[in-house]
Amino acid sequence: AAKALGRGTFAEFEPWLEERDRERAQLEADLKTAIQNDEFTLHYQPLYDIAQRRTLGFETLVRWQSPIWGVVMPGEFISLAEDSGLIVSLGEWIIRNAIEEAASWEEKETVAINLSPLQMRSPRLIPTLAEAICTTGIDPARIELEITENMLMHDSERNVAMLHELRDMGMRISLDDFGTGYSSLNYLRSFPFDKIKIDKCFVEDIEDREDCQAIVRAVMHLAGALGMSTVAEGVERKSQLEWLRAEGITQIQGYLISYPVNAEELSDGRPFNEDRAQWFRPPEMRGK
Ligand code: C2E
Ligand code: MG
Ligand code: MG
Ligand code: MG
Repeated sequence: AAKALGRGTFAEFEPWLEERDRERAQLEADLKTAIQNDEFTLHYQPLYDIAQRRTLGFETLVRWQSPIWGVVMPGEFISLAEDSGLIVSLGEWIIRNAIEEAASWEEKETVAINLSPLQMRSPRLIPTLAEAICTTGIDPARIELEITENMLMHDSERNVAMLHELRDMGMRISLDDFGTGYSSLNYLRSFPFDKIKIDKCFVEDIEDREDCQAIVRAVMHLAGALGMSTVAEGVERKSQLEWLRAEGITQIQGYLISYPVNAEELSDGRPFNEDRAQWFRPPEMRGK
């Protein structure tokens, strides 16, 4: 990019870090117009009940289809949207669209929505959810809100109050990516979670890593004792599923059952289950 400015310009001598800063600034500028330009789409990934052998719900995962950058994954833009405050309006768009989509599902599965820290602190979160529930008529018990443990570190009293309020409205709360942030057992005691999602890093080599097995077992038992259910994230292989099934984990999520699909694929793809799994997996993962 520096080259394009021509020889002898100051930009030519800037270190690569500033180049990356410029790219970030450009990405952020493009992100600002992306909502008006309708460049976001929602994908949905099944939450699968191992014992019942059926899909109970879908997690909403946002993608940015940029005319300039191509498909941008949330890992690349959520933190940018968080830093610039854009996440609040993007988050509202996601909530409205995910709930509207879920309200149209005849099977009435649950819909999980990821919340970012800034959204949790926004006074607009509750009115946005209330309005979406009201206009669609969806049963709020079908809505699961996913938060991460890092969100609870600061301002935790306010956050507890917020979580209680969301639960009083009839929604469920899940603790996402468990074990990867600043985990504290105290959070499990003081927050009203319905579900703990064990991060995929513990599930990756579950068949032969005894340390991961010990952690997954412990989290599962702890969650059970506290009246919470457990989901294992990132299940890609049948052998992982079999290990988890044998241990009594009830729910899984991962490419084994399905990669995240768009709304059209979702309606064409039902039912999502382990017997039909091959159809919904990325091509490079079929046959594993
Ligand atoms: P997450 O909430 O933990 O979502 C799970 C991520 O793991 C998704 O990545 C999903 O595509 C991926 N995944 C699912 N199954 C497998 C598998 O079997 N193997 C592997 N390797 N990966 C799997 P994605 O869609 O790129 O999203 C990444 C993160 O971005 C999410 O992690 C979440 O923290 C955030 N995110 C996504 N959508 C939203 C959103 O609408 N709002 C907010 N605030 N954050 C979002
Ligand atoms: Mg999540
Ligand atoms: Mg997760
Ligand atoms: Mg994650």
